[in-house]
Amino acid sequence: MKIGLYPGSFDPITFGHLDIIERSARLFDKLYIGVLNNNAKHPMFTVEERAALIKEVTKHIPNVEVSFFSGLLAEYVDVIGADAIIRGLRAVTDFEYEIQIAQMNHELNSRVDTIYLTTSTEYAYLSSSIVKEIAMYHGEVTKFVPEAVAFKLKEKANKR
Ligand code: ADP
Repeated sequence: MKIGLYPGSFDPITFGHLDIIERSARLFDKLYIGVLNNNAKHPMFTVEERAALIKEVTKHIPNVEVSFFSGLLAEYVDVIGADAIIRGLRAVTDFEYEIQIAQMNHELNSRVDTIYLTTSTEYAYLSSSIVKEIAMYHGEVTKFVPEAVAFKLKEKANKR
């Protein structure tokens, strides 16, 4: 059984992430979405809120499981027995950072390789930070995130 791990902050999940999830779920028997629990990044949503949203919007994909991790990705890969890490590449600007992380992870755990899926062009401009910024100014985000996520973003914006 081939197991993939798609790690990230997912603060919150967007259609760009969902596209990568749907495509990589077809490449692996099982796909773990590893939600990074890292408060140093000052996320808008707690790790539980982020995981609940991911579960909600991926419930149509049977081989996807949502999990949490903190600490080293290179070690977490062994905890769940993943064969590969999946990351999305939007533009060349992602590349420099991503290659550094992938090489370091391989150095720390030589069993693990990282596979990149290039983003579908309609989502190339999309990032969680931009979506959060639009939502905080009460802009419309339903084109960028699933409905359940747009609803939660509106709640956060109204609380400010
Ligand atoms: P991180 O904080 O680890 O960068 P993100 O949640 O921002 O986490 O992203 C997780 C992964 O999803 C990364 O590989 C990122 O490149 C990818 N990703 C983010 N937005 C998009 C998008 N619009 N299209 C494709 N991949 C994306």
